[in-house]
Amino acid sequence: MLRGLMMDNPLLISSLLDHAAQNHADTEIVSRTVEGPGKDGTGAIHRYTYADAQKRAKQLAQALARLGVVAGDRVGTLAWNGYRHFELYFGVSGMGAVVHTVNPRLFLEQLVYIVNHAEDKYVFFDLTFTQLVEKLAPLCPAVKGWVAMTDRAHMPPLKIPALLCYEELVGAESGHYDWPSFDENTASGLCYTSGTTGNPKGVLYAHRSTILHAYAASLPDVFNCSARTVILPVVPMFHVNAWSVPYLAPLNGAKLVFPGAGMDGKSLYELFEAEKVTTTAGVPTVWLGLLAFMKQNNFRFSTLKTAVVGGSAAPPAMIASFRDDFGVTCQHAWGMTEMSPLGTLCTLKGTQEALSPAKRFEIECKQGRVIYGVKMKIVDGEGRELPRDGKAFGDLLVRGPCVLREYFKDEGGSPLRVDEKGNGWFPTGDVATIDADGFMQITDRSKDVIKSGGEWISSIDLENIAVAHPAIAEAAVIGVPHPKWDERPLVVAVKRPGAAVTREELLEFYEGKVAKWWIPDDVTFVEQLPHTATGKLLKTQLRQELKDYRLPT
Ligand code: ADP
Repeated sequence: MLRGLMMDNPLLISSLLDHAAQNHADTEIVSRTVEGPGKDGTGAIHRYTYADAQKRAKQLAQALARLGVVAGDRVGTLAWNGYRHFELYFGVSGMGAVVHTVNPRLFLEQLVYIVNHAEDKYVFFDLTFTQLVEKLAPLCPAVKGWVAMTDRAHMPPLKIPALLCYEELVGAESGHYDWPSFDENTASGLCYTSGTTGNPKGVLYAHRSTILHAYAASLPDVFNCSARTVILPVVPMFHVNAWSVPYLAPLNGAKLVFPGAGMDGKSLYELFEAEKVTTTAGVPTVWLGLLAFMKQNNFRFSTLKTAVVGGSAAPPAMIASFRDDFGVTCQHAWGMTEMSPLGTLCTLKGTQEALSPAKRFEIECKQGRVIYGVKMKIVDGEGRELPRDGKAFGDLLVRGPCVLREYFKDEGGSPLRVDEKGNGWFPTGDVATIDADGFMQITDRSKDVIKSGGEWISSIDLENIAVAHPAIAEAAVIGVPHPKWDERPLVVAVKRPGAAVTREELLEFYEGKVAKWWIPDDVTFVEQLPHTATGKLLKTQLRQELKDYRLPT
């Protein structure tokens, strides 16, 4: 093999911030903080630039070194999307340590497990999580210090040993610091899957995988990010690196807007308008709240063009509302923690733009085409590849340089399935179709698909129809045992406040929308549905709660 003769510069995360600081020095990073209105009365908005962020990330790296953090150490965060969290992304990874973003919405036992399993040396936390830290600290004895992400004036009255102040640590350093250079396959970040069953498992990202992913995620058919973009990640930075936004923004010199803890419709809308946001990303639940707020107040977006929605299936009604009511393109995306996380995103091809509006919409509701670097296929129960015809559905497998090979500390052995050529594929746990144009559509989670008379029924399709009914706020569809058909679908639905609908009316609503044998057998109305810490329907719990349920005969 003849080796290429190009420079062997490793792909390191610190280079993203250096690039932005040099070429987009004045581009702003705006954050809604959690420390309340400032003394000058300007409100709780903080703003600075990439040049400022670079200096402070370097000061942070110096402070970490002074605290004894060395390459490979894990540094935990319990924090919202904000500028200090951004500094941690770069300060920690930049010095060769690993930024471990902990999801504060998990249950206490899971948090204790995760912090101890990761062996976090220090944990940085936003003031919102002070009480949580008070409970957590005694149960995580290996953590050497807990750093409140604030200044001395706002320090919480916390009675734990080794409480430190972020601004004091950073303020004591000069910022005259050269990022170290090392192998691009060095670990940079750690994120645990929410684990609806069993213990959470750690996904350990590398500098190389993070940069390759940020490159691919920047492209026009993905985030379409540029130096003219103003991007606001609603998806939290503790949720798979906010889908790469904190990395791809400096790569492109985009203005970054961080919403802090303000995920409600009003707070988001104010920030979208005040900062002229063009692009945003988040899970469906957040958009439901925002769209309802917009409609109630008859508001319009003046600059927003694109909303990326993923993490769970975007209801078609939401995709349509973004476009028809607000003139915003809603791009459906699919991914998972193990994939850094983006797998697919839905944008039309040139040849599809001439299709009828109905046909275009049908495509836009799919999860979309793979981003560069991801390979995917669907297989049957025996591992045989299924056709890409948009009809056959099977287990979705993926591979690529930003896809997990094994979990942190080899939890659970190798998760990969090896094909006849010896290539390892990661089983996503999703069931999907892929069409001839490469558009993938999730039909279900492997565990949630309803098996009726030897055929499969997609619970997601049935849920989408239920929530399209004007009286339904949220719905889950699960399979319940049936003497003849093995399983039959049951709709578990939450009504909108003040709305009325009967079981019969909802079942009638399915007619003509799906094959007759897909129409659910029954409906039960509930006050609320169980969710995971990341806001997904927790169907394992629902099945457990309804295990004695009998279908009407
Ligand atoms: P994330 O933290 O990014 O949500 P998780 O690893 O927690 O990722 O969950 C990934 C799973 O979420 C996927 O395997 C899939 O089942 C589901 N998911 C993500 N996006 C979508 C989507 N657009 N449509 C349907 N399911 C989705």
